[in-house]
Amino acid sequence: MRAAVIAEDRKLEVAQMDDPAPGPGELVLAVKGCGICGSDLKVVNHLPIGYTMGHEFSGEVVAVLLSRPSNRPPTSAK
Ligand SMILES: [Zn+2]
Repeated sequence: MRAAVIAEDRKLEVAQMDDPAPGPGELVLAVKGCGICGSDLKVVNHLPIGYTMGHEFSGEVVAVLLSRPSNRPPTSAK
């Protein structure tokens, strides 16, 4: 996958990254669109190099790993 990350010069660059896999109770979204908003720009100089930018996005669910909450007993079949 590709991601917009903070480069050494504090500018954004598109970097190739490993494809993520969902953990229990998580999903993977193939992002189709992502914005960089004013909040991102306010904090960009305080984030670490390599940080993935953008928190306003939409996309398509491509993987799901379902899990049963651990505090609930398994459902019995009757
Ligand atoms: Zn925002």
